[in-house]
Amino acid sequence: MSSTSTFTLRFGSPAYNVGENPATPEFDLIERIRRRASLREDVILGIGDDAAIVQVPAGKQLVIAADTINRGIHFPDNTAPGDIGWKSLAVNLSDIASMGAEPAWCTLSLSLPTGDAGWVDAFLDGFLELAALHRVALIGGDTTRGPLSISVTVHGFVEPGRALLRSSAFEGDDVWVTGTLGEATAALTQWQAGASVDPVLRMRLDRPTPRLAVAARIAGIAHACIDVSDGLLADLQHICSASRVGAEVELEMLPALPELVAAFEPQRRQAIQATGGDDYELCFTASSSARDEIARIAAETNTPITCIGRIVAGQGTRALRSDGSEWIAPSQGFVHFA
Ligand code: ADP
Ligand code: MG
Repeated sequence: MSSTSTFTLRFGSPAYNVGENPATPEFDLIERIRRRASLREDVILGIGDDAAIVQVPAGKQLVIAADTINRGIHFPDNTAPGDIGWKSLAVNLSDIASMGAEPAWCTLSLSLPTGDAGWVDAFLDGFLELAALHRVALIGGDTTRGPLSISVTVHGFVEPGRALLRSSAFEGDDVWVTGTLGEATAALTQWQAGASVDPVLRMRLDRPTPRLAVAARIAGIAHACIDVSDGLLADLQHICSASRVGAEVELEMLPALPELVAAFEPQRRQAIQATGGDDYELCFTASSSARDEIARIAAETNTPITCIGRIVAGQGTRALRSDGSEWIAPSQGFVHFA
């Protein structure tokens, strides 16, 4: 248990650091993982050989996403292992969702400072909980010694031609975002300041919700789509660049949880929401004729979906205040090596 942290809320597993338990050899760790990994009918060969074998459904295309999370970069040092497990899979499922795809299989490459079986077990609690929610089978991976780092690859399917790309936004489209924005960065900001961290905000940092239910419903409706990982404005700009259009976002429209509204004055909150990142919400564009259908999808998936702006001619993403004046972000989003 970390003594320097102000966090008290934990999810899935107790908080402790990797290396607190005696070392377990690699092959025993892999065997523990293998015993708990659930399979699917389309897994021909899972963990245990040199590679996995799977059966891609006839007529579907394979969609592949890979993301790594590192201690101190992608999660605070005191994050509970179960939350690290959840998040390492969630960020990948979010990429699969943003393509409009359905996940099926994943691999897990663990770099561990010590072979801490207790940590691995607790990590798997969160990882496999999320995998089970979406029927994702863990079919392989790698286990090595090194700084704590988790690399996950997720494989999914999409109907040919139905993937949601960044490059298909059109002038006149509405810009939509699922869920709410800003809580993860707000929690990180509070933690870094040594302040007490609101548990609702911290939950959003530790256990983001991949929006697969919405993704399954917006294929055929959404034009362009991306998941918000580096910050709304930065990620929307990726859609703009790829689609050769511009975008206008109404700051007032950015959806916020009451806990976030209560914790920050409005200008600070809007800056966090527009640029913070780590949200893992979907940002997508669609024709204005799709508004009723999107409202129906929001209701049926029990997920807020908010219209936050529009696609315009030109280039660049502009954030507008309620009086119509342009708001200039202190920074556009998170960039590694910047
Ligand atoms: P190799 O030396 O041939 O790469 P490994 O010992 O790394 O074999 O892996 C043996 C088997 O265990 C493989 O099926 C591999 O995919 C699986 N595996 C290794 N580490 C993990 C892990 N962290 N999660 C899931 N499967 C793993
Ligand atoms: Mg290996």
